[in-house]
Amino acid sequence: MSTAFTPRAIDPDTLKQLRDTDDAGRPCVSYTDPEGGDPLRCCLRPVREGERVALVSYAPLRRWAAETGAEPGAYDEQGPVFIHADPCEGPEPAGTRDEYPFVRAGALRTFRRYSAEGRIVGGRLLEIPEDTTAGFDAAFAEAFAEPEVALVHVRAVEYGCFHFEVRRPE
Ligand SMILES: [Zn+2]
Repeated sequence: MSTAFTPRAIDPDTLKQLRDTDDAGRPCVSYTDPEGGDPLRCCLRPVREGERVALVSYAPLRRWAAETGAEPGAYDEQGPVFIHADPCEGPEPAGTRDEYPFVRAGALRTFRRYSAEGRIVGGRLLEIPEDTTAGFDAAFAEAFAEPEVALVHVRAVEYGCFHFEVRRPE
């Protein structure tokens, strides 16, 4: 069974830029992670032991707006994400993934909803249920049932860190 909605990773062109200078204007600093486990926003999986990664600042709404012509203005937001320090494979192709990235039953996520203009149009808190895929599918279906919602950002509650984006299915 695959997920009903497609989680999007950072696109390769953006990754190339972030590996030079991040969205806060800082040079990218890479390191070897001896333990692994942090969520990779480029491949939508945890870091494996010994991989070379970087923690960079990323502005997901600004990047989306640059593609669509939206003007999020004050809604623009940036925060830290882990990425591979070198060009990488990216996530599994759309439609082949049987669970959403970084799921753990009992963990808390916020689903922040944005309009096509890049404004926040609501959100909700999800405590991830045992059936993680069903829980995420239902939360996205609920978000996109609002005609105004163009995209949803999923974030971890405790750290506020951005996990992935889902756009309204075409
Ligand atoms: Zn990667």
